Amino acid sequence: MSLNKSMHPRNRYKDKPPDFTYLASKYPDFQQHVHTSLTGRPVVNFKEPEAVRALTCTLLKEDFGLTIEIPLERLIPTVPLRLNYIHWVEDLIDGQKQPRRGIDIGTGASCIYPLLGATMNGWFFLATEVDDICFDYATKNVEQNKLSDLVKVVKVPQKTLLMDALKEETEIVYDFCMCNPPFFANQLEAKGVNSRNSRRPPPSSVNTGGVTEIMAEGGELEFVKRIIHDSLQLKKRLRWYSCMLGKKCSLAPLKEELRKQGVPKVTHTEFCQGRTMRWALAWSFYDDVIVPSPPSKKRKLEKARKPLSFTLAKAGLKELQAKASAAGCTGRGPVDSIGALLEKTLTDLRVLHKRVPCRRHEQSLFLTAVENTWIHGRQKKREQKRQLRELPRAPRCAGNGSQPTGAPAAPGPPAPALNQPATATNSSGQDGNTENKTTSSHESGQEAARDISAEQREVLDAVTVEDVDMESSTCTEAGQETETKETAAAASELPSKRPLSPAAVQHFLFKCLLSVMQEEGDVVVEMHWVEGQNKDLMNQLCTFLKNTLLKSVAKS
Ligand code: SAH
Repeated sequence: MSLNKSMHPRNRYKDKPPDFTYLASKYPDFQQHVHTSLTGRPVVNFKEPEAVRALTCTLLKEDFGLTIEIPLERLIPTVPLRLNYIHWVEDLIDGQKQPRRGIDIGTGASCIYPLLGATMNGWFFLATEVDDICFDYATKNVEQNKLSDLVKVVKVPQKTLLMDALKEETEIVYDFCMCNPPFFANQLEAKGVNSRNSRRPPPSSVNTGGVTEIMAEGGELEFVKRIIHDSLQLKKRLRWYSCMLGKKCSLAPLKEELRKQGVPKVTHTEFCQGRTMRWALAWSFYDDVIVPSPPSKKRKLEKARKPLSFTLAKAGLKELQAKASAAGCTGRGPVDSIGALLEKTLTDLRVLHKRVPCRRHEQSLFLTAVENTWIHGRQKKREQKRQLRELPRAPRCAGNGSQPTGAPAAPGPPAPALNQPATATNSSGQDGNTENKTTSSHESGQEAARDISAEQREVLDAVTVEDVDMESSTCTEAGQETETKETAAAASELPSKRPLSPAAVQHFLFKCLLSVMQEEGDVVVEMHWVEGQNKDLMNQLCTFLKNTLLKSVAKS
């Protein structure tokens, strides 16, 4: 079973996947479904309903002391995914090991949520079901686990959700309701048509489940909308309303519905188990409830705080220093040299940069990227060459000096020096007006273009989208990827006429702080996100800078 890092932190299977060998040796019913893979690992075929059922029953027995029976023709729950939802409900209601009162809408034959909630936390459940077979199995599963005091299974008519289940009890306030709704609107959706992006692989596990379990009129969207409308009448009879969603695209319209109805507290989360993603939505009419942050926000915050970094190992520093001094850098230590090489590359890339004060033995540059000059692309390179021919020649690497080459802080001559690679021959430290060279040197402009091609073509070629950590783990939604690429494309279409200084920049791709520092003999380069359109662009630039530096080490 492939388990994913985005499981709930308290999920017992998060860092400890089930040990199939051990379970097979202990449970003969399970053993017959465990095979040995070509690499010698014990594996279970999730496409076989019998195997999925055997694993579920075995895990419930081994880890929760529960004995259950489920017919093959009804939905067979997977334990780790169901546990994620239970743990999230614990977060919502502060209900870990606390007696709480909940409703499970559509409990299924397994009655898995009530059985887990009652066993783990002592929760009381009202479990509803429309399907006769499911109702019978659920009732039996509760009885045989001696949980009838905590779990009450009730049969309800198809058209109702919460209202009917609650009409007899007018006083009791429930802490929560949960629901794993029938996911699909019709047979086609159930087979995967429309519900997945065509680039995504087919489901890796079998979809067991009877007609009422997996299909509802209008799919999960309509089903959950009905729960929302019940909640608008019941309001504070429940502290939290929640439901799981099989499709990410259901989330936005449901949140919009809640917003339209003026529901004050709304949150969501995502559950991930191997290649299976699920989402969950929760809402409340109480003002004093704890509202857990959605995971994407948390992740984004963590990601935003964490700098991107790469390390240049001690062994290669001498060569980099030599290269820097050949380029006119007068600084002594490796931090100065690498700082100067980075400044040169940034100048070549026309990324505005300005030194900022920092600690001793450290160099910091404030970067403003206005256009995407580092991304792979033939057309881009042609355009770059064209611009290089037309633009004046640059003053070179200013050594350890104070004048930022890429980002003149004060108004200066129109954008001259920003995009030219410095060369050792014309880099004697002069700054200021390069007009003469500019106008005189169509030739040297071409030379510069060649410089760029020779030195950076390979690097440009090397920086493809694959190099870039686009957050495209198995759990990444296809939609997010598209968004990323579109943003990058839009970014690359920005006008190439650059403003003069970072301060004057109105439209930029992103701003970040680049720091170069020494760490135990190595040099570490960090890039801290400040603001902008898309952090992936900084990621691309980081990869480009790293490759440029490493390339010079490899060459010499
Ligand atoms: N909770 C279980 C089963 C989910 S499948 C699990 O997570 O594994 C959805 C279940 O909802 C099915 O058993 C289906 O019979 C039931 N159901 C469908 N419509 C319902 C309704 N209106 N009220 C209660 N249950 C319903």
